[in-house]
Amino acid sequence: MQGKIGLEEHFAIPDTLADSKGFLADDTWPELESRLMDIQERRLAEMDRHGMQMMLLSLNAPAVQAIAEPKRAIDIARRANDYLAKEVARRPDRFQALAALPMQDPDEATRELRRCVKELGFRGALVNGFSQINDPSSMVYLDDKRYAAFWAECDKLDVPFYLHPRNPLPSASQIYEGHPWLLGPTWAFGQETAVHALRLMASGLFDRHPRLQIILGHLGEGLPYSIWRVDNRNAWTKAPPRYPAKQKLGFYFQQNFYLTTAGNFRTQTLIDAMLEIGSDRIMFSTDWPFENVDHAAIWFDACPISTADRVKIGRSNAERLFKL
Ligand code: MN
Repeated sequence: MQGKIGLEEHFAIPDTLADSKGFLADDTWPELESRLMDIQERRLAEMDRHGMQMMLLSLNAPAVQAIAEPKRAIDIARRANDYLAKEVARRPDRFQALAALPMQDPDEATRELRRCVKELGFRGALVNGFSQINDPSSMVYLDDKRYAAFWAECDKLDVPFYLHPRNPLPSASQIYEGHPWLLGPTWAFGQETAVHALRLMASGLFDRHPRLQIILGHLGEGLPYSIWRVDNRNAWTKAPPRYPAKQKLGFYFQQNFYLTTAGNFRTQTLIDAMLEIGSDRIMFSTDWPFENVDHAAIWFDACPISTADRVKIGRSNAERLFKL
């Protein structure tokens, strides 16, 4: 399929580059480093070769979310966003931008989102899970009350919010001890992000802001497969769920979430996601540079779904959601 749009596509700036080291074997670092630092050359060639018209670009992970000192988090986010705005301006037909946000300071995060959308023309934000705030051992999730005004602004600006994975801190990783292979994209990313998304659903956030749209990568971090059981648990007991949200969580999953194919190029999984959330709420992505554009595109172009669904997932859902 020609004209595909991808929206979980990352770059780095020198200050955040090292955050991406260690997820792959050391001998792949020179290749990953050059992919992360490039925007206009190798990346565009990959896109041309595999029918990708556009990438919505975002900073690598965990980057800003792992900078416990709020002033520095604010500074790095601004620098990354200003750099990205300049790169996008060179080829706005091929690149658009998602903002990095210093969630360590909710007021500054709100201001930076507004600046990025109103002044720099960004299409939304991408945040890497919980934030460490002041204390490097802290983990502040986005359902925290301190983010009420931030979410109100996100709703008012009418821009989507991409909830991207990061690893749990060592203090919250006992279950992975002795099995470091489970960290990162293999398993821990999905576990961490799925729980984060369930926290948002249960918090009542989407009762307050029914228009708000959250995007999850990796075909929903396992949630399409599990969301029915979350709502149905022990249905014979008739006990109401003990969370503030008014609806079953599957309701918010279908009303307030979009999924992307980033890093999960599996037809069986895509079909399950389509059955749970619908092809109007799934969008193509690759997760470049951590995954390959060819792996994503060759799979997607040939996977056995209807032409109508391929056009929606490959392109038109993103055009509509991001007003491209
Ligand atoms: Mn990613």
